[in-house]
Amino acid sequence: MSQSLHRYCEERLATIDAAGRMRRRRVVEGSHGVLIRVDGVDCLNFCSNDYLGLAADPRLAAALGEAASSVGTGSAASQLVTGYNAEHAALETELADWVGRERALLFSTGYGANVGTISALLGKRDHIVADALNHASLIDGSRLSGAAKHIYAHADAEAAEHSLRCCESGHTLVLTDSVFSMDGDTAPLNRLADLATEHEAWLAVDDAHGLGVFGQAGAGRVAEAGLGSAEVPLLMATLGKSVGAAGAFVAGDHAVIETIAQSARSLIFSTAMPPAVAAAARCGVAISRAADAERAHLHALIARFRAGMVRQGLSLGHSDSPIQPLIVGPETLACALSEALLADGFLVGAIRPPTVAPGTSRLRVTLSAAHDAAQVDALVAALGQAWQRVVAAGSQATGS
Ligand SMILES: *Cc1c(COP(=O)(O)O)cnc(C)c1O
Repeated sequence: MSQSLHRYCEERLATIDAAGRMRRRRVVEGSHGVLIRVDGVDCLNFCSNDYLGLAADPRLAAALGEAASSVGTGSAASQLVTGYNAEHAALETELADWVGRERALLFSTGYGANVGTISALLGKRDHIVADALNHASLIDGSRLSGAAKHIYAHADAEAAEHSLRCCESGHTLVLTDSVFSMDGDTAPLNRLADLATEHEAWLAVDDAHGLGVFGQAGAGRVAEAGLGSAEVPLLMATLGKSVGAAGAFVAGDHAVIETIAQSARSLIFSTAMPPAVAAAARCGVAISRAADAERAHLHALIARFRAGMVRQGLSLGHSDSPIQPLIVGPETLACALSEALLADGFLVGAIRPPTVAPGTSRLRVTLSAAHDAAQVDALVAALGQAWQRVVAAGSQATGS
């Protein structure tokens, strides 16, 4: 007789706890904007993906409320049954127009979009050439497809080319994030597009952190790089980050998108997002497209934060995006820094294994157009002080 599930889980939890890796969900009361109340404490939020400050925008809330009062809350079925509402259809048209593709296909989550799309298009005879730091949803989609995986060193186009030379049978998909979620740096998109063309491979880019932030009218990092559907036939992005709503989409030529709609299991066997959420997303898309002033403000804050960190003697990686990681190393130090900042009223996430490689635990600062310069300056000062107290003092004590 095997041990009970209860006992088995107790042991698993004890192992996680002993490794100092127990994750705790903090309870947010009220909205998820810049001023946030977490576990009963008011703080400044530097820990979200709300790059344009739309998650708590009253215009989106009004769009959601109005749609809910006319169409209700539930879509009540999969898109392919009776769940596909006029709000979804209109959103898809607007998204395709925004990113410059023939069509877009909605999914309820970015995770589902990536898992469904990759496994719909690739199979056992095929190859996937993927960046080592791709988002988990791209990794899981690749696993589910059964294709042979070739992982190349992060953002290294030479290494990608080396992998491409090994792919002979079937089709080959080159798969990358545009802006990497834990490092904030950007894939060599133009170089990867050239390589994909040269090796007759398909290129898929997840622009979750690029949409709304980069490119003309916020059309994303792929658009900014001048890459259309000939170069990037599969473009994914989410609606829960800069757009301020929820859900995701994949965009491309008609035949590609229709094939995914016919075969992606995460679409077919999942209830469509509530139409009212699609209405909120439509509002978020319209605002994002027109948000040039907010984008300029956001990029100015990013530059201000980076300059401030240099003055504090703290070095950041190569990121021009709202994601600004400060690599600390040991996870205990990253957690201690995060706690010290929270005590000062700044919410900054500590990212540690298994999300990132051991020894690269970090504070992941994210900036939003909803922040102001004074808030960023205050964070820089608090970070400098916390670093002195926690990291510098700690390494003196141990003599290292
Ligand atoms: C957030 C994210 C996703 C997942 O999107 P959800 O809508 O949150 O499921 C996928 N890819 C990348 C790169 C992301 O950052």
